[in-house]
Amino acid sequence: MKTYHIITIGCQMNKSDSERIAACLDNIGYKKTEKREQADLVVLTTCGIRQSAEDRVYGLAHKIKKENKNAKVILTGCLSEREDVIKRLKDKVDIWLPINQIINLKQILTDFDFRNTKINPCDYLKIKPKYTSVFSAFVPIGNGCDNFCSYCVVPYARGHEVYRDAEEILNEVKDLVGQGYKEIILIAQNVNSYKSKIRNQESGIKNQEARESNYIDFSHLLRLVNSISGDFWVRFVTSHPKDISDDLILAIAKCEKVCKHIHLPAQAGDNDILASMNRKYKIEHYLELIKKIKKNIKSELPVAITTDIIVGFPGETKEQFGNTVKLFEKVKYDMAYIARYSPRYGTAAEKMKDDVTAHEKRKREEKLMKILKKIALENNQKYLGKVVKVLIEGQNKKGFLFGKTETNKIVKFSGDKDFVGKFVDVKIEKVEEFGLSGVFKKNY
Ligand code: SF4
Repeated sequence: MKTYHIITIGCQMNKSDSERIAACLDNIGYKKTEKREQADLVVLTTCGIRQSAEDRVYGLAHKIKKENKNAKVILTGCLSEREDVIKRLKDKVDIWLPINQIINLKQILTDFDFRNTKINPCDYLKIKPKYTSVFSAFVPIGNGCDNFCSYCVVPYARGHEVYRDAEEILNEVKDLVGQGYKEIILIAQNVNSYKSKIRNQESGIKNQEARESNYIDFSHLLRLVNSISGDFWVRFVTSHPKDISDDLILAIAKCEKVCKHIHLPAQAGDNDILASMNRKYKIEHYLELIKKIKKNIKSELPVAITTDIIVGFPGETKEQFGNTVKLFEKVKYDMAYIARYSPRYGTAAEKMKDDVTAHEKRKREEKLMKILKKIALENNQKYLGKVVKVLIEGQNKKGFLFGKTETNKIVKFSGDKDFVGKFVDVKIEKVEEFGLSGVFKKNY
């Protein structure tokens, strides 16, 4: 039996894509192996969002052919259609596979030329994935992006936004919950733009407003997922600040299964830099959203807010960076993923002068990190003495169980390994910037 090994670099969407590739390969008789150097087929699911992710692909592609010259290498994901990458790795990769073509994988492996085949870019999401976890599942609700932020490769790599039918998504979630899954993560590049036509009025979609308009938007979808019976949590990523509606904030507030955590990428705190990034909102709008989120989404503990930030975008002055510092102080983020700007191939920002020095970018990153640590610790102090529900994800090398709260806080405690994949209550006794620890109270 032929074997395969998959290497996934980058985001949750890529992880979800790799689960579908694994399902396709299983279906055509391949068997998964952890031993890359012995695999007949090595699949690289690539990411081009950051230079560091891209560099990893170059390093791996060279290594794979060196350690296993008989392996067939498939490269898919963000870099699969980039001409410069194809030229650079032409001797290291056998098949350059756009992700939505994995529905043709069987034929492609027998020399089928897929380049002129027309397919619906959403069809590959119908493939039932081989989920890597038995309690937490990514459920893509769409693919692609129409926003064209000036620094980002995604619209070029994944194409225009396409969304799955709500019925298809609901059936996947029902199936997962029926199997005992405890966490459903709805994913798309911009979940807030979700729109699906109701194709069948008899489908059981009862939302009056949705039925009248004949469309389901993301807040309707969240309510529908929330109405599926079972004990599970719903998370979603990623939101674009220009598309969050008041109704969505209300849906998050009212749906008891939807986790009280919002990841809302700001990218910068300065209006001129936001305009240059083509983000299509002003910081005043972003801050107004944060105010509404904090006011409306109430639970025992404050709603958690996390973000993505780019420091050292072309032309970013010290003063403009100072506005991002002010943003951090105002919002009081629980977590921020801070990236130093690097030009990405084919984007609008690639043509701008990358004029902030590497040293200055590092200094700005360090400054934000310092503020983040202080604020995150203050936020976490509100958890001291509280009993929180945690979904246990695993056991670390020191024997501690770890998992997350609905507010996405990592919790560590001593407990029975059988709790992995289950909800338990933990009393918090110690807090750090990015983690909490406590004692087991009860299981569900
Ligand atoms: S919204 Fe902007 S940053 Fe996000 S995927 Fe689309 S283009 Fe990229």
